[in-house]
Amino acid sequence: MRAILLGCVVILGSGVVMAEARETAPLAETERLFLEFLAARDASAYLETGHVKEWDGAGLETWNERLVARHKALTTSLARLDTAALAPSDQAALAAIRVTLGDIGDPAPAAADGARREPRCEDRHDASLDREGLTAALRACFREIGNTLQFEGGTVDRGGALGLLAELDDPARRKAVFDAFLPLWAAINGANEPDSPYRRVLKMAAANDPVSSSGITAAARSIGVTVDDVERWLAQILAAWRDANPPDLVEPWDYRYAMGEANRRLAQHFPPGAAIALSDRYYRDLGVDLKALGVVYDIKDRPGQSPLAYCDFLKRGRFTEDGGWDKTIARVVGRYEEGGLGSLNELVHENGHATHISAIRNRPAFTDWTDTLFTEAFADVPSWSVYEPAWQRKYLGTELPLDVALRGQFGTAMLDVAWSLFELRLLRDPTLDPNALWTDITREYLRIKPHPELAWWAVRVQLSGPGYMVNYGLGSVLTAEMRRATAEAIGSFDAGNPKWHAWTADKLLRYGSEKTSKQLMDELLGRPLSPAALLAEINRIK
Ligand SMILES: [Zn+2]
Repeated sequence: MRAILLGCVVILGSGVVMAEARETAPLAETERLFLEFLAARDASAYLETGHVKEWDGAGLETWNERLVARHKALTTSLARLDTAALAPSDQAALAAIRVTLGDIGDPAPAAADGARREPRCEDRHDASLDREGLTAALRACFREIGNTLQFEGGTVDRGGALGLLAELDDPARRKAVFDAFLPLWAAINGANEPDSPYRRVLKMAAANDPVSSSGITAAARSIGVTVDDVERWLAQILAAWRDANPPDLVEPWDYRYAMGEANRRLAQHFPPGAAIALSDRYYRDLGVDLKALGVVYDIKDRPGQSPLAYCDFLKRGRFTEDGGWDKTIARVVGRYEEGGLGSLNELVHENGHATHISAIRNRPAFTDWTDTLFTEAFADVPSWSVYEPAWQRKYLGTELPLDVALRGQFGTAMLDVAWSLFELRLLRDPTLDPNALWTDITREYLRIKPHPELAWWAVRVQLSGPGYMVNYGLGSVLTAEMRRATAEAIGSFDAGNPKWHAWTADKLLRYGSEKTSKQLMDELLGRPLSPAALLAEINRIK
């Protein structure tokens, strides 16, 4: 409540009131500049995607100039602050501003060069690239090669190919789709030599993980546990999955098919556009009107579109002079015009992010994402529901057997857990052989036949920057806890629940970056976080 009042003070306009505001709110001017800087950053990031030519009356060049000027004004203001004199609440606000700035980085050098030159895939051999540069080069490989995989005389993109692995009935055709990834794997990990592009970025990331805001150490800290605790939980989750499933080994090109029966059985219920319509309807039933929130969608196929689905701020919300709220606008990027249950699951996840940031009501310093672990976990709270029989009955008029539905839900989620364990162990010891480690983990827990000659782990863009996958793998522990606590408080929401939006906004979302995963989860649960809720979910398969 106090933070919200401060937020009101910050944007008061008249000079007299501002002078007073500065006395009572020493960060007011810095926070105003922070919001201005973020407006430029958000506009610039949006225009760089090429979805539109102008935002808020200006093009990319203008916004980039503003970005540099506003960054300078903000850093000058930060340097002038008498930080020692700040009250604890302002110290916390200032710390949040610094975290956000650290995540965004200094925009000046890139923009000063004129046209910003993003690394291309071919740059991955450039020994002068730093961690960010090499990560960007590997991400470019996912875009350049991953968007044009060769299959049966045509091309298919990476997401489409993973979809085909779950859909094609003929094992030989699945093997052919799997082999279509070979050029991508060769680009990312060469011939698995110790200085392959991936193994070089891994070594850089290992040195950086303790200070990275989205790395494994950060994820562990954000829930108040150690990296060893995280490793133990991940292994526990995977072991529960192994023990709940049949013991037969499958080929890696058959795994997604074995898990994908849910998608196949429901495919007929997803004509073009159905995923978008179903997501909108489900959110309305949760009390969220995505149209009214003003979410901007970049979901139609177009050249140069991101290979990765994501959600970002397009405009940060702020309190108005009369105590109202000038709303946040979120934007969602992805491909959802085609696709079945898996696509819908991803779209509901992205809309979960849009709901999250649209619900922030806090002073400018905190109008940013909650930490990455919480953010990814929360987006799955509604997205898991589409695998529930209650959801399917209401929205599709049919339902799957529980084990088929849960395999559809957790089969790919367990790959995320496996990647989390993979990255955790590699970041601890970057001299390990990634192919061998991936083979060990997937053979032991997912019952996948060994193919250590292949870097078949390299199908997720996020692996370009090692340490991110834990936000999905470990995130599932938080997701299961949040889903259980929410249902206990307001009743089931799998088939909609009008209380859901207001309740989650109040308990979890309105704080923005003010609270950590640990604070939010401790307050929600009244006890330490545990993997028990997730293990119980997995064991429903038996
Ligand atoms: Zn996400």
